[in-house]
Amino acid sequence: VDLGHAAKRARVRGLEDIADVGDLLRRGDATVDLARRLATSLGASDGVPIESVRLAPPVIHPRVFVCVGRNYLEHIREGKADVPTSPILFAKFANSLVGDGAKVVYHKITRELDYEGELAVVIGRRAAGVAAAEAMNVVAGYSIVNDISARDLQNGDVQWIRGKSLDTFAPMGPVFVTADEVPDVDALRIETRVNGELRQSALCGEMIFKVPRLIEFITEGITLQPGDLIATGTPSGVGAGMTPPRWLQIGDTTEVSISGLGELRSVIAAPVGYPLLKVLRGTSGH
Ligand code: MG
Repeated sequence: VDLGHAAKRARVRGLEDIADVGDLLRRGDATVDLARRLATSLGASDGVPIESVRLAPPVIHPRVFVCVGRNYLEHIREGKADVPTSPILFAKFANSLVGDGAKVVYHKITRELDYEGELAVVIGRRAAGVAAAEAMNVVAGYSIVNDISARDLQNGDVQWIRGKSLDTFAPMGPVFVTADEVPDVDALRIETRVNGELRQSALCGEMIFKVPRLIEFITEGITLQPGDLIATGTPSGVGAGMTPPRWLQIGDTTEVSISGLGELRSVIAAPVGYPLLKVLRGTSGH
């Protein structure tokens, strides 16, 4: 449903120019309630077929997009890393966000492209110094993020920024699901497939630091605002954890699904204007 169009037809004011879920959340509770009431009043004829539209990521411009590294024990083991005693945080930028069905660019500066299926938390209200016991009150809802990673850049640079935040490195979606529809985060199953082959499968309850603790840890020093994002870490089964490693190649599809949140599909594609032959030659040997 085009919210602005539906609001106009229903003569509802205040929903005309909402850009994305983040924008809606930033308008505050009254506007969110208005959208919720309008949505429940709509019929099937008010919408357009999902196949006829290209989905943007639910949040386009998060102020803060914080990610969690090494948050599942089996993933730490496959990476031969130490178990952290407190959450390991890093950041992705908004430039990396793309929607469901979008291309992930095989940038020419990497030869070790990898996937990481993750639960994404969307913040719904201002959060500073929030205790874990109160943390779920600031969660607006959930989505899926594929934390695409260039392992050679991640391991070769001192910081993870290039390895984690090149353009298109954060497919997100397909949708945003409000928190009231997700009664038990721990029971959510997350699965990642590459060209249909199951690579990752875990329960979100296997996280070492769960969503309330993550929010507590982050907001001890970083104020979160409506529309901000947390990517909560990936389970085992990434390409880097295999012997030999199995990197993504041009033409591969990745699908990350989480129970109740849908399936996020991405296609690995050559950079625009870059000779495909050169990319293929560069990837041979892997
Ligand atoms: Mg990750």
